[in-house]
Amino acid sequence: MSKTWRPATQLVHGGTTRSHHGETSEAIFLTQGFVYETSEAAEARFKGETDGFIYARYGSPTNDMFEKRMCMLEGAEDARATASGMAAVSAAILCQLKAGDHIVAARALFGSCRWVVETLAPKYGIECTLIDGRDLANWEKAIRPNTKVFFLESPTNPTLEVIDIAGVARLANQIGAKVVVDNVFATPLFQKPLELGAHVVVYSATKHIDGQGRCLGGIVLSDKKWIDENLHDYFRHTGPAMSPFNAWTLLKGIETLPLRVRQQTENAARVADFLAEQPQVARVIYPGRKDHPQADIVAKQMKGGSTLVCFELKGGKEAAFAFQNALEVVRISNNLGDAKSLITHPATTTHKNLTDEARAELGISAGTVRYSAGIEDSDDLIEDFAAALSRIGK
Ligand SMILES: *Cc1c(COP(=O)(O)O)cnc(C)c1O
Repeated sequence: MSKTWRPATQLVHGGTTRSHHGETSEAIFLTQGFVYETSEAAEARFKGETDGFIYARYGSPTNDMFEKRMCMLEGAEDARATASGMAAVSAAILCQLKAGDHIVAARALFGSCRWVVETLAPKYGIECTLIDGRDLANWEKAIRPNTKVFFLESPTNPTLEVIDIAGVARLANQIGAKVVVDNVFATPLFQKPLELGAHVVVYSATKHIDGQGRCLGGIVLSDKKWIDENLHDYFRHTGPAMSPFNAWTLLKGIETLPLRVRQQTENAARVADFLAEQPQVARVIYPGRKDHPQADIVAKQMKGGSTLVCFELKGGKEAAFAFQNALEVVRISNNLGDAKSLITHPATTTHKNLTDEARAELGISAGTVRYSAGIEDSDDLIEDFAAALSRIGK
């Protein structure tokens, strides 16, 4: 395997191992366990003296191909594939913490991620401070003697705030804390948190990596030492392992990741520019537009815009609902990163559990809409948006 391959090549060939049949496409190894030629061979495998798989909860061949391919793309030494994005996030955070430790997290988080750090972790004696992550001074102010983990998402869901990952990593390194980045919204193509100084990267593979709305999946990537010392035992004994069938689906999915993400980003950028000109739209947030509030950081740390667009309709909830209901190509769904264009109203779906105050802090109003661009022809998307906007008047 060549480390110098460019991403599009890695994603088609990286990590592939073939059985004695020499199959073209990666095989699905739907097996729970593995057999040994002799008792001595089993003993040696368990002692770690010989390489090989032991039990599918620990690792298995199809999952291994997916993990290796993702490691190449991310520039990570090691990884563990998990059953869902949330299994990846919770494992990455909990495996390295104990009672008495402290997390600092940017408050603009995917709802379940916020629940893990704000509600679950404190039950086990792990303290958590939520901050506005856009200002580095807030990270510094929140540091305590027991701060062990900084956790963030960038761009954030749904308002696409961007956080200075290199800046957060510099602060973390000063105190020996680890930075965990949920890189879902940026995709592994457009942002490399490990290169920016983060220590651990997590994905919901359910999103762009599958990209075709078929299965759940997640992955935690880091250096070998961190995985060995933190995640290895946690992963084996708490059992968040991905199904080999899903690993296979995701392996096939990432072959086309660069093609899909490029088309989705072009579509998102065109929709963002179109929306910014419409009288019914109060504001558009799109990393990649010059008017994005953190455009300088976007330019510094991202190689591309985003496949998502956040915008606010002047008419509040009534306008947002009427607009979404009038769309014909774009479907109403809370998923994202899919080949199909999807739209959601965060205040009544993904962020309905937050208080009005917390939503306001995140910039989510009754008129806020989140659009996830698909791979359709952008002319059809613009026509769909134009027709739906005309239905809600000016
Ligand atoms: C979807 C998502 C998750 C959770 O992933 P699942 O695969 O649904 O468990 C976590 N973080 C972000 C940013 C997400 O978009």
